[in-house]
Amino acid sequence: MKVAALRETAAGERRVAVTPETARKLIALGAEVAVEAGAGAGASIADADYAAAGASVGARVEVLAGADVILGVQGPDPASLVGTKPGAWLVAALNPTGAGEKGGRARVDAYATAGLEALAMEWMPRITRAQSMDILSSQSNLSGYKAVLDAAAEYDRAFPMMMTAAGTVSAARVFVMGVGVAGLQAIATARRLGAQVSATDVRSATREQIMSLGAKPVFVETVAGSEGAGGYAGETSPEYQRAQAELVSAHISKQDIVITTALIPGRPAPKLVTDAQLATMRPGSVVVDLAVEQGGNVEGAVPGEVALRHGVRVVGHRNVPSRLAADASALFSRNLLNFLTAFWDKEAGRPVLPEGDEIGDAIRLTRGGQVVSARLVS
Ligand code: NAD
Repeated sequence: MKVAALRETAAGERRVAVTPETARKLIALGAEVAVEAGAGAGASIADADYAAAGASVGARVEVLAGADVILGVQGPDPASLVGTKPGAWLVAALNPTGAGEKGGRARVDAYATAGLEALAMEWMPRITRAQSMDILSSQSNLSGYKAVLDAAAEYDRAFPMMMTAAGTVSAARVFVMGVGVAGLQAIATARRLGAQVSATDVRSATREQIMSLGAKPVFVETVAGSEGAGGYAGETSPEYQRAQAELVSAHISKQDIVITTALIPGRPAPKLVTDAQLATMRPGSVVVDLAVEQGGNVEGAVPGEVALRHGVRVVGHRNVPSRLAADASALFSRNLLNFLTAFWDKEAGRPVLPEGDEIGDAIRLTRGGQVVSARLVS
């Protein structure tokens, strides 16, 4: 049973799917681990660290030869997967419905043609059993933290109130829009830095979570939001959207920092901040749009850029978890390890996804040369 870990090739991707710690644990389970040379470089892990953990290190063709399980952060270019074993698992964030060269249906088709069993880790169901395997949660948590630090770095004022002999510096006012995993961590981080924090969401359950972190909830009270399903939000009604826009307009002009994290599964990110609303903010304010790669929550946010709009810096970094590559890799690789361990079949000496298992059905994209995911074929 051989596990292969690939070096990421997507632009700006610094994470790695296996660390020396998880390599050691996979070896303890009985696997042989092969890591592509240079795979850990972006996360400050040397090839020698993998070798010391008991893994072999080599070129991609050597690593892939005879591999039963191929691990990646993002989906690898199918053309680079030469000589893979039929039925081998490909476990990564495969972006099955994404457009462009980083993901999408064409790649899924190519994985099927190559005979791989492609497993999209971002489609992990939100059930208790799968929490430790949930890459969206582990990476969003770090994104929420980093968004606040990115905002602080762009902001030309301080976050905490400071009383000095030269006068008082007032606390930054931070508004977090979208209080899922990333938003909760953004609230906690901004609070730790001494900001005055408020937050909003469409799911009413978040109100208590906001208050428990010492922040102020700012909610539409007149129209029902969207409770969604499985912890995810759904689309809101036009009445709600109007009421939310009014609320945001009234609130945003008094904020120094806005961090948006709002996502709706399978849809473009909801537009929450207009250009006109940005224009009401004080020059020097900072807006971080964590949803910029999913269409953006903020009008004028540009993926990969810090755009200046009406004196407001609109931050649109791509792949924010990769900006914390070492910790992001540590958590991502543990998510993959937890998945492989949970389905490890001792007798077979390899992971096996039982027929009809909720997790397997949710994440399996291809099998036996066919695309089999209900979300892709229906
Ligand atoms: P997400 O990334 O899909 O969305 C981020 C947030 O944006 C959500 O809170 C959503 O309600 C909010 N949002 C959507 N549209 C909005 C709008 N128009 N205005 C304001 N906010 C809007 O969500 P997420 O961070 O992945 O997680 C959402 C929930 O799921 C959390 O409560 C989390 O604890 C839960 N969760 C459960 C599990 C599990 O049980 N295994 C795993 C992960 C997350």
